[in-house]
Amino acid sequence: MSRSFYPPVRTLMGPGPSDVSPRVLSALSRPTIGHLDPLFVDLMDDVKQLLQYAFQTSNELTIPISAPGSAGMEAAFVNLVSPGDTVIVCQNGVFGGRMKENVERIGATAIMVHDRWGDPVDPQKVAEAFKAHPEASVLAFVHSETSTGVRSDAQTLCALAKDHGALAIVDAVTTLGGIELLVDAWGADAVYSGTQKCLSCVPGISPITFSPKAIERIQNRATKVQSWFLDMQLVMGYWGGNAKRAYHHTAPVNAMYALHESLLMLEEEGLAASFARHRKNHEQLVAGLESIGLSMAVDAEWRLPQLNSVLIPEGVDDAAVRGQLLQDFNLEIGAGLGELAGKQWRIGLMGYGNNPVNVNHCVTALGSVLKR
Ligand SMILES: *Cc1c(COP(=O)(O)O)cnc(C)c1O
Repeated sequence: MSRSFYPPVRTLMGPGPSDVSPRVLSALSRPTIGHLDPLFVDLMDDVKQLLQYAFQTSNELTIPISAPGSAGMEAAFVNLVSPGDTVIVCQNGVFGGRMKENVERIGATAIMVHDRWGDPVDPQKVAEAFKAHPEASVLAFVHSETSTGVRSDAQTLCALAKDHGALAIVDAVTTLGGIELLVDAWGADAVYSGTQKCLSCVPGISPITFSPKAIERIQNRATKVQSWFLDMQLVMGYWGGNAKRAYHHTAPVNAMYALHESLLMLEEEGLAASFARHRKNHEQLVAGLESIGLSMAVDAEWRLPQLNSVLIPEGVDDAAVRGQLLQDFNLEIGAGLGELAGKQWRIGLMGYGNNPVNVNHCVTALGSVLKR
């Protein structure tokens, strides 16, 4: 295909990327300037401040990593975990399994706390794991499990980590901008996200924040961080406070314009208003899906408004339905991941895409395809 690529206009209602607003796309196409240009350095400072608002934190080390959410995950682990450490990892879906991978590749031990895919992390089991492994120095869990559509009680889990002198690593990739996330009030120590979920920005950047306790742990490491690119001691010199910016890597300049614009939109709307909008349209979607005979997979208390897991009715061909939605309605919804493949659909209502038009479009299209 040696011609320019013109993608169709899809409605993205899967697990991410979500619909990107024209405002963000327009920011992306502004002229590229140098990444050490004083004006770009000012923009970086503004992005950091807007991220502090989104994360509800005063953590100084709050920055966008120039790589997707998975790099944010890896950055949290490689900086806070050293070879030989013990880490309690909660798994109630796909992403907890990736945390285990990260811990083991560092040469540390992962103590797994398993819960059924579709249930939240059970704090009682975490308390027991700490009792059995008082040497654990980190607790890691996923706040919004995108593979199942389940929220876990981050506040209680962070408090458990603190009580046992451990740091809390929190995956907030699907959380940020969609539901409440109080990094400082909850006492989370390393929290990472992604741009393509509820921030509705282009994929490829991972906002992350580290608490002062986490920075202390990083500064007192006995061994070098195994990743050069993600070593926060080096990245701090690039994104850091007053010090002169030192070249570390070339920031994705235009993607930073886009992130800045999407964070500005979040600030203009206000976090509380954004959360209320996510909840309201989620309730409309649930009502609509139930009206066409579908049922939700997750208990109402733990449902994520931004990621709705729906049971695929008996005898319905999962891939055929998703294929027809894409072909006839330009609508993308998500397939089940891991052990939920073929059993559930995942319907995203994230960020800019969380609106009544998308809710109606999805219910109408799905109803019409299922009727065939
Ligand atoms: C999407 C997602 C990731 C990975 O983000 P990428 O940008 O795809 O690398 C990690 N954790 C959770 C919970 C996610 O939903």
